[in-house]
Amino acid sequence: MDSLADSYDLIVVGCGAAGLSAGVGYLEAARQQGHRPRVAILESAPPEQRGGATRWTTARFRACQDYSLDPFFVGKMQEISKGLSDIEYCRTLEAEVPDTLRFLEAHGLELVHYGPPVAMGVEHEVTPNGGGHAIVEALAKVIEDSDGAQILYRMEALRLNLAGDGRVDGVVVRGPDGLLRTLHGTAVVLACGGFEGNKEMLTRYIGANACDLPLLAPGLGYNQGAGIRMAMEVGAAMSGQFDMIHSELVDRRTDRADAAIYGHPFGIVVNGDGHRFYDEGQGTFEETFELIAYEVWRNQKQTAFFVADQTITKHPGIMVLFDTDKPPVEADSMPELAAMLGLEAEPLVKTVEDYNAAVGPGEFDPNQRDGKATSGLTPDKSNWAYRLEHPPFLAYPLTAAICFTYGGIRTDSKARVVSGNGTPIPGLYAAGEIVGLYFHEYPAGTSVLRSLTFGRIAGAHAAQSALQNS
Ligand SMILES: Cc1cc2nc3c(=O)[nH]c(=O)nc-3n(C[C@H](O)[C@H](O)[C@H](O)COP(=O)(O)OP(=O)(O)OC[C@H]3O[C@@H](n4cnc5c(N)ncnc54)[C@H](O)[C@@H]3O)c2cc1C
Repeated sequence: MDSLADSYDLIVVGCGAAGLSAGVGYLEAARQQGHRPRVAILESAPPEQRGGATRWTTARFRACQDYSLDPFFVGKMQEISKGLSDIEYCRTLEAEVPDTLRFLEAHGLELVHYGPPVAMGVEHEVTPNGGGHAIVEALAKVIEDSDGAQILYRMEALRLNLAGDGRVDGVVVRGPDGLLRTLHGTAVVLACGGFEGNKEMLTRYIGANACDLPLLAPGLGYNQGAGIRMAMEVGAAMSGQFDMIHSELVDRRTDRADAAIYGHPFGIVVNGDGHRFYDEGQGTFEETFELIAYEVWRNQKQTAFFVADQTITKHPGIMVLFDTDKPPVEADSMPELAAMLGLEAEPLVKTVEDYNAAVGPGEFDPNQRDGKATSGLTPDKSNWAYRLEHPPFLAYPLTAAICFTYGGIRTDSKARVVSGNGTPIPGLYAAGEIVGLYFHEYPAGTSVLRSLTFGRIAGAHAAQSALQNS
């Protein structure tokens, strides 16, 4: 076990985008004032699995060419949350995103830009080369190279320690030897993710059959909701929709992390009875990938199949949306395809015949909402409805995997954890997925951005407060 200090200036719980940004943000702000602070980042995982969700993400950012946040984001949050999301927090994110992207570049990350049609939903995307893994490696190196800063592995935070006047002054941890210790710190940042890795909490908040949700990536298993529980114990307010999750459709045949199938708008999706149940073309994949996955888990017994024909193989921009290591199941006829998928032939054949007969006129165009729709079906398909008539037919067996939970801690726009009446709890900050923000839907490409941004804000604010009080 790494040697522990008697006390730290900052203790960060979690070694993902939010926690590492908090640690680096603190170091940089303190160094500007000529200080060499003691910073500890607690990581529940061993070193080779550090980084939580961040380690596994491609880290697609909803950002523009000039590094500003998607200009529609704040309005979209207002609209889809029906006014429930903290709009000041969203505006702060909007104001800070350019600095966040420059922060990544300053730490050696190369940012890659994508425009339509690859994005197919937002006008522009930015991604760090090497994804979230590169973020974790780059920011962890800053901590590792800094005197007085350390990452403590297999160190699980259990409780917040309170001083007599109620300020947070440390964390009770269980170390790799299984023993409890109290680490003292002037400030604590909770950045240890949501509760997607905790079946008991999932069942409590999202309900029956939560146990059937596989994790989108292994790092999520460490996110057990400990930080949310710890904050609740000291009277923190909560935010975000506790009974909602972000999930994605994945290829059911593989154990590979993040084997996401985003191509559902460009074919049909049937359930285990061979019936369609969702308007696959109601929006771009960005707009629908979360809700169709939730529907598969919640109402379709976690079983679905994407079915298409050779029309889509002519479009490389579509084929990249099937991010699995398994080839599609292929057959020359629908009955044969049904047999290979373990489905009864008759219902699937009828579904496809009814669908083909309902397809309206127009040209199939995957680069825009083409309005090529069906009519008379329940549900109809609103765009990209072409007849399935060019064999070999192809299919992917699907299930929904959980990515993150929506419910979490409430903070102000300086990342300070607040109590029920909005008063900041002295010494306590939170950043990243652990902060409850989303309601009803998740606008993709904002989770890593907000983790980095509010991590940085938490670290910088904690450093300034420490220096003012010293
Ligand atoms: C496969 C995949 C793809 C994704 N794609 C995107 C995308 O393209 N764009 C996007 O914006 N978002 C994406 N996301 C979501 C995004 O990656 C996460 O929401 C974000 O990285 C969360 O960062 P975080 O720092 O808050 O949490 P994490 O990165 O999960 O870090 C939490 C850390 O806390 C540690 N921890 C947990 N409990 C404790 C404890 N008790 N004590 C000590 N340590 C603890 C964990 O081990 C981990 O290191 C994706 C997620 C996944 C899994």
